[in-house]
Amino acid sequence: MKFFITSKDIGIDLGTSNTLLYVKGQGVLLREPSVVTINSKNRQVLAAGLEARNMIGRTPEGIETVRPLKDGVIANFDLTEQMLKKFIEKVNIKGTFKRPRITVSHPSGITEVEKRAINDAISQLGVSKVVLIEEPVAAAIGSGLPVDEPVGSMIVDIGGGTTEIAVISLQGIVTSKTLRIAGDELDETIIDYVKREFNLMIGERTAEKVKIDIGSVYEDKEEEEKDMEIRGRDLMTGLPKAVTITESQVREALVEPIALVIEAIKATIEQTPPELAADIMDKGIMLSGGGALIKGLDKLIYNQIHIPAYVSENPLECVVLGAGKCLEVIDKI
Ligand code: ADP
Ligand code: MG
Repeated sequence: MKFFITSKDIGIDLGTSNTLLYVKGQGVLLREPSVVTINSKNRQVLAAGLEARNMIGRTPEGIETVRPLKDGVIANFDLTEQMLKKFIEKVNIKGTFKRPRITVSHPSGITEVEKRAINDAISQLGVSKVVLIEEPVAAAIGSGLPVDEPVGSMIVDIGGGTTEIAVISLQGIVTSKTLRIAGDELDETIIDYVKREFNLMIGERTAEKVKIDIGSVYEDKEEEEKDMEIRGRDLMTGLPKAVTITESQVREALVEPIALVIEAIKATIEQTPPELAADIMDKGIMLSGGGALIKGLDKLIYNQIHIPAYVSENPLECVVLGAGKCLEVIDKI
């Protein structure tokens, strides 16, 4: 695929699972997993994104795949920088990005030092301006919440490494919480469950597929329950084995981590000033990030805390769209 890029405004969602790049006037031009393949000796990046993800678990000695942002913090700055560089080159093959302005969304829990490091990394790529925006604010803008108004809006962004919960009013975060429990943790919980219940060791990719295909967190009595065949290694014999896992088993596995997410939402609302909390009661909670797609989460939230929850129209892209839109807001100021 070839792109001809003339615009000067770029939004980047630097997520723990996926990195997205939006160019004003052209839309989202890149969606790739935040993964790199590196040479273990000199730590140089050989491949980034999808190409790198397809190598997970299949690399020869001397080559490894790394998720530089795993667990919601920038675990490896150098690799993050190299990955971003590769992604920008990928959409800028004709070299038409002439000193663009770039907005980057980042997890709200990072330190000033980390923020400066992102700023420096991006600045080195020959840009005219770098704007950093906190991920929940970008997610709220991209989900169409009225963040400019003196009204409380609640966003819960469930990504791979972190869940970011925030109440926003007048463009600022009023109360927030970052949890290290999100999509990756759900996958790990499924791995543990399958190990316990079936004596079977499955890989991360299989666990994620189970979560996406048949995962649910709220029992819908009207609907027929799904199941799925999974393959792994039998821990008793050491040989490959297949078992069938049901939707209700997955739900059972996910009870604990999901309860922690709901607990954190509740705690955030309790810390919110009463006027804004009343707005949230009224307008509900917006869910974004890939984790928001887990079946039944909106219903479970309503059932547990009696506040309506809605999944953003475009949960995987709202952060990058919000980051892109934020430059337009800056222009107006
Ligand atoms: P990040 O912002 O951290 O990069 P994303 O918002 O891209 O994360 O979401 C990635 C997470 O969403 C992964 O854990 C992935 O497994 C999960 N995910 C994606 N689609 C679904 C789905 N349909 N159901 C449940 N989880 C999903
Ligand atoms: Mg995200």
